[in-house]
Amino acid sequence: MVPGPESIATARSWVASAEQHDTDFPLQNLPFGVFRATARAPRPGIAIGDRILDLAAVAEQGLLSDQAAALVHECTLDGALNPLLAAGRDAIGHLRRQAALLLAADSSESRAARDRGEALLVKMADAELLLPARIADYTDFYASIHHATNVGSMFRPDNPLLPNYRWVPIGYHGRASSLVPSGAAVRRPLGQSKDDAAPAPTFGPTRRLDYELEVGAFICGGNPLGTPIALDDAESHIAGLCLVNDWSARDIQSWEYQPLGPFLAKNFATSVSPWVVTLDALEPFRVQAYKRPAGDPQPLAYLHGVRNETRGGFAITLEVLITSSRMRAAGIPPMQVSVGSFESMYWTLAQLVTHHTSNGCNLQPGDLIASGTVSGATPESRGCLLERTWRGTEPLRLPNGESRSFLEDGDEVILRAWCERAGAKRIGFGECRGLVAPA
Ligand code: MN
Repeated sequence: MVPGPESIATARSWVASAEQHDTDFPLQNLPFGVFRATARAPRPGIAIGDRILDLAAVAEQGLLSDQAAALVHECTLDGALNPLLAAGRDAIGHLRRQAALLLAADSSESRAARDRGEALLVKMADAELLLPARIADYTDFYASIHHATNVGSMFRPDNPLLPNYRWVPIGYHGRASSLVPSGAAVRRPLGQSKDDAAPAPTFGPTRRLDYELEVGAFICGGNPLGTPIALDDAESHIAGLCLVNDWSARDIQSWEYQPLGPFLAKNFATSVSPWVVTLDALEPFRVQAYKRPAGDPQPLAYLHGVRNETRGGFAITLEVLITSSRMRAAGIPPMQVSVGSFESMYWTLAQLVTHHTSNGCNLQPGDLIASGTVSGATPESRGCLLERTWRGTEPLRLPNGESRSFLEDGDEVILRAWCERAGAKRIGFGECRGLVAPA
């Protein structure tokens, strides 16, 4: 028996920590990830409270359907979720619903799981959380019009938003090899930069290291080369969402970006959070797409659809926090730098997928598509330091008196996200962390 949406909304778990009101991972979330505990090989799991449901152990105990157990076995051999992502959204939903029944407080299926209890669960604090998938290709978009306008007005004061912006989702192909899991240190990159007044560029450590707060989408299913994905079908190719920090060296970027766009200013590291929050879990938090102001053009037909317009957005609250090494030494908690919402994005995730494939480009299971910096209309909701400190002209004051225009060595950036509304259980994304190491 598969529970209906009503019973899922209020269902409880026998895992005590999943019932705490502020947990990111109640029974209603059940995001997928890959973890390593003690000396064992990486294996697939599902976050529940402060525990991980060890899917390989669940399969070994005979608690999954044959189809789900076979997929879990493949993912375990692979040390990545790619086989599950390749199987598509229905298979992912099928496995997730089985996990929900095993973890629910009052389902008949849960008795066997509960009896085995701790044998199926791993303490998240004791596990190393890895990248969820082998990511073959990574694309970064630029879907916040607020971000595009702010950055444009700094780099091109007379022409902030380029004329194509409202017509075509802007993106670039990122580099998959330098995607790193949350918690991995990020080394300050070396590169070329040139001060406006200087006659020639210099080479050395970036002096304008920045983060970018982004939402990532893991592709499932995929499309054959030459076969575009229609807008109404786009979300069936998204397994779920995560947090992405697109670390950026602004001085390198402003010197190198013309005419072909971001390159070495971006591809030295990109941090990815460990849990893939499924679109099924995000269903209660759907909202209409960003309402285009009067005077903006409607999207072209291939990017235009009623379902996308009325339900293509997601009300995800996103937050950035910073700690410096001196703050940590003094026991001062991280400082919130910004808080905003994914509702402010000009283009929906479905539009990004459809546009990406509109020329026939093939997306593959495990590919990562990032939204671009999530910035809102207000200064408090700007998702990178370039905007938050307005190119360093309005430095942030940290609680211990330090100031920040851009990131210093020893700074740690923490991205968080969650969804909440009346009548639904709050769910969260966990964290995406990265600590700046010296050049
Ligand atoms: Mn970016």
